[in-house]
Amino acid sequence: QGSPSNASRHQFVGAKCSSHSDIFRSVSFSSHLPDFFLKSLENTKPLQTQRISAVVRPVSCYKQMEVDISLSPRVNSVKPSKTIAITDQARALVEAGVPVIGLSVGEPDFDTPAVIAEAGINAIREGYTRYTPNAGTLELRKAICHKLKEENGISYTPDQVLVSNGAKQSVLQAMVAVCSPGDEVIIPAPYYVSYPEIARLADATPVILSTNISENFLLDPELLESKITDKSRVLMLCSPSNPTGSVYPRKLLEKIAQIVARHPQLLVLCDEVYEHIIYAPATHTSFASLPGMWERTLTVNGFSKTFAMTGWRLGYLAAPKHFVSACGKIQSQVTSGASSISQKAGVAALGMGYAGGETVSTMVKAFKERRDYLVESFGELEGVKMSEPQGAFYLFLDFSSYYGVEAEGFGMIKDSESLCRYLLEKAQVALVPGNAFGDDRCVRISYSTSLSTLQAAMDKIKKAVISLRPAVLV
Ligand code: PMP
Repeated sequence: QGSPSNASRHQFVGAKCSSHSDIFRSVSFSSHLPDFFLKSLENTKPLQTQRISAVVRPVSCYKQMEVDISLSPRVNSVKPSKTIAITDQARALVEAGVPVIGLSVGEPDFDTPAVIAEAGINAIREGYTRYTPNAGTLELRKAICHKLKEENGISYTPDQVLVSNGAKQSVLQAMVAVCSPGDEVIIPAPYYVSYPEIARLADATPVILSTNISENFLLDPELLESKITDKSRVLMLCSPSNPTGSVYPRKLLEKIAQIVARHPQLLVLCDEVYEHIIYAPATHTSFASLPGMWERTLTVNGFSKTFAMTGWRLGYLAAPKHFVSACGKIQSQVTSGASSISQKAGVAALGMGYAGGETVSTMVKAFKERRDYLVESFGELEGVKMSEPQGAFYLFLDFSSYYGVEAEGFGMIKDSESLCRYLLEKAQVALVPGNAFGDDRCVRISYSTSLSTLQAAMDKIKKAVISLRPAVLV
């Protein structure tokens, strides 16, 4: 018997590739790529590569024990995030030399404001690089409490705030903390891709409530009332919404609050990460600020969107102490406190003034200009329905009148996935199919990119879509 290092050797596995799709099928992450993406690559040739250097497999010299590679049913019930997969794919295509315009990404294209970045750099220089308290530094939690009071009209003390590695972790911990097996999580669709999957990870059952584009994708309170059962534990709300950009008006939230108030077991998890990316006259209302709702609301927010800090991984939960403590218990066993450097940067972000001050309002102005451009441009495309977004940086467009069309040299456009594949092939623009968000009639376009890129994308999309129009009009 040799030592582990000489008991196995590594063999370089080369392969002859005839197309880009071969490359993507052979690299180790290919199992995460949806079929529509792989199909779109089938006819494209790799630029120079004929051998693949990405695959290095250990080849044992000794007989291997069989390994049980089955996974937990919990993990098997969860789908990988399609937005992340598609964004990675668009990036891989660009790296392979295909001039794809990626409009699938859910992050601001702006750099983190300098004052925030400086605070992070200073934190490193000053040796502020050790573990922080699990719940986050007192300095940051105090700043968050101040922000929630000033901007959202909600009072919390630092022990009612838990800082995490991004808002996504905050949502996950909240669901895991409050849901028992079999509990129902009510999620209005279109929804942020992760909500149903997070509910499943928490052993709960997602209950999806559809909304209509004609009602700006907002939840109908009567539908909500009719779907609440004894098992309903969490109502998930996201305003401004990813993927629709809809903003819940205060009056509608008040109606929802009246319904929720009749069900003691029902909590409300509010994702407010886009609160400041909002276009007048729309205004943001925090659900926890409504009369009687503080006790049952878990408010999630973060730094990724408002402050262009996606890579810093910083978010938080604010809620009554027993919920926050439960989430803190989970966090203490999983990740511990968020990055000390990011927390220093977070304090600087909240120090930029009300709603991020001038710097953030400049970014929001740019988003609004892009939204206006896209709303006008798609308004000129026959058969496309939209609800003008009031916030976030997405447009969720109903293209279903094009479904059933046979596109020349492509095949049938039958759903949001095939439409996105068609647009990737014909227009070389990457969008996200609406089925990822629970609405197959639509596709999501992210306008977190420059106006000139959007104009170039729009020209290509228009050409590709207009060539389908004769068939639609027949
Ligand atoms: N909630 C929504 C609605 C989002 O769109 C996102 C990011 N795409 C998140 C949460 C996650 O944010 P974070 O980067 O803070 O984890």
